[in-house]
Parts: sequence; structure tokens; C-alpha cells
Amino acid sequence: MLMMTNEQIKQAADFFTKEINRLSGQQSIRLMEVCGTHTVAIFKAGIRQLLPQNVELVSGPGCPVCVTPNEYLDTAIAYSKNPEIIITTFGDMLKVPGSSSTLAAEKAAGADIRILYSPLESLDIAKKNPNKKVIFLAVGFETTAPLAAATILMAKEAGITNFYVLSAHKLVPPALRALLGTENRHVDGLLLPGHVSAMIGLKPYEFLVDQFNTPAVVAGFEPLDILQSIYLLVRQIHAGVAKLENQYSRIVPDAGNEVACQTLYKVYEDADTAWRGIGHLAGSGLALREEYRAFDAQSNIPVVIEKTKEHAGCQCGQVLQGNLLPTACPLFGKTCSPEHPVGSCMVSVEGTCAAWYKYGSGRWQG
Ligand code: SF4
Repeated sequence: MLMMTNEQIKQAADFFTKEINRLSGQQSIRLMEVCGTHTVAIFKAGIRQLLPQNVELVSGPGCPVCVTPNEYLDTAIAYSKNPEIIITTFGDMLKVPGSSSTLAAEKAAGADIRILYSPLESLDIAKKNPNKKVIFLAVGFETTAPLAAATILMAKEAGITNFYVLSAHKLVPPALRALLGTENRHVDGLLLPGHVSAMIGLKPYEFLVDQFNTPAVVAGFEPLDILQSIYLLVRQIHAGVAKLENQYSRIVPDAGNEVACQTLYKVYEDADTAWRGIGHLAGSGLALREEYRAFDAQSNIPVVIEKTKEHAGCQCGQVLQGNLLPTACPLFGKTCSPEHPVGSCMVSVEGTCAAWYKYGSGRWQG
């Protein structure tokens, strides 16, 4: 696809658009783009405008910042108030509201919170600050978790004893299992995240077809990738079949990245974890294995958090499950905006609410 001329891309886009129209006919079809990167790419490319009215795209739980629950933020914020602790984090986490504060507010008030581009930077910070405890906020899906695991392995090898992680890693397939297992769910097909799939491969998704009879396509992120993936889903639905297809095979090997997965599972094991607005899902997170527990912040550094409170009126849980469009949240664009987010979905650039706020003009705005 990278070698195509503009004319070839236009011809391919025309073909997919016409076929989506033809194959969907009058049938009402609801597809979920699981991943926040797809949500933004769909908006930027104007893909909704190319689809017939009866083919609907809804966003799923694939934005790691969005699905991180208040309790995690409250714990990170409580740690940040300890003058013996340095928090290291990706910038996205700063504005995510906890129950009554944010990391940005605590940083402004003097907490030592440092923004990273790679978790490996935490190790340098730990070495330069031997009298402090450095806690890395390990948030992300299968895409970023292997790098967090590699950082822990490097810390162990280097004998660094003042580096910890506060883990909120999440796994995509168990969330999809929970989503498809809910009563009244109405998703006819899934656009699966290309970058997560590049790590885990196709096998972890086989249950989508085997148990839930749901068409699924691993999709790339170029506009034509997404359009082709929608076409593949609609084609399956039209044919009355459910298959797992890999549109992004130029990047995603069917077996995934075995080295990265081995690194990940050397350090972590599957564990139950909470998803914002969705609840605890069995085996949907990662916890440090016993032999690496010395790097686990909560096992080693006591912390007391206030009682976690949810944000009144915020519908992030419903948005993340594809049950509600952001514009249906009564706070959208009123008390909740990217400048003053009420819920996590309005914070990250990949957050569904933030994407709708930034790009959402068109027929769906009524
Ligand atoms: Fe939550 Fe704001 Fe989205 Fe409403 S618009 S669901 S308050 S993030």
C-alpha cells in the first residue's frame, strides 16, 4: 500500500466505498473500532462521511489513559505527595482527573513529577537520585508493556533498588471478551488494533470468531487501511460468515512479536484489573511475578488514598463500551472539554470524547 500512487489510492478508495455501499444494502451494521488511534484516524480522514447512513462506527475501550480508573490516579497522586518519591510518567496522564486532583495540579503544587518519552529514562533518574524512590506509572496495552518489562529487567541487572512501577497495564482480548459477553451488546464486527496485534499476533483473538461468531479484522492506520478493513467486515457480514482477517499483514505477523511477548511474560503475569467505567475484568491486566515483586510500588511503599469518587454525570464507561456517543453525554462541550476535562476520555489525544470534540462536525452532530 505504501508504494501506491495517489491515483491508485483514489481508485482503491472508490472501490471500497462502492462495495461497502453495495454489500451493506439496507442492513443496519454497527462496527467498533477498538483502538483510540483508529478513532482519531477515522475522524482525520473523514471516513464516516464516506460510509452509508446504515453503517455506523462506534469507539471501543482501546485508549489506555481512558480506561485507567480513578483509584489508580488517586494512588499515583497520593504517592506524588510524598517528598521522598519522584513520579515518572508519560504526559497524557497529567491531566487525567482523579477523585479530587490531578497529577498536573500536584506538580504545580510542588510534587516531583517528571514527564518521560521512554520508561528507560526512569532508570537514569533513579541512579541520579539514590535517596529518592522513583515510581514509573506503567499504563498501556500490550504495545507498551514489553518496554516496561524490559526496563524492570534492566533495573534488576543494574542493581537499581529505588525504581518501582505502579502497574495499570491492560490486555485487549479480555476486554473484548467482556464486551461481547454483555447482554444487549450490539456490535456486528470489530476493527482490531494494529499495534497491539503486532505484539500478540492473531491467536488471542480467535475466540471472537469461535465463541462469539463476530467478524474481526486487524486493521492498519492509513485511511485506505481503515476503509479496506471496513469493507472486509461488511463483506463478511453480507456473506453471513465470521472470520478473523489480517488487513495489516505488512506489519502484523500472524504469530506476533514472540521476543517481546517472552520479555513481557518473563516479568509479568496475567491478573485481574479494573477498567474505568467497566469494572474488574478477570485476567485483563498484568501484575509483576513474584521474582520481580521488589519493583512493585504497592507491595513495597505504603500509601493511603482517600475514598475514590466517580465524576458525577461522566459517561466514560458507556462511551468506552460503545454504548453511547460522546455527544450524548450531557457534559460534552459544556462542563467537559479538553481544557477542562471531567472524564478521562476527554484527556488523551486518543480519547473518544477528545476526538469527537476536536474533529466531530458532520451529520452525526445532529
Ligand atoms: Fe466523561 Fe466528558 Fe466524555 Fe462526558 S464528555 S463521557 S464527562 S469525558
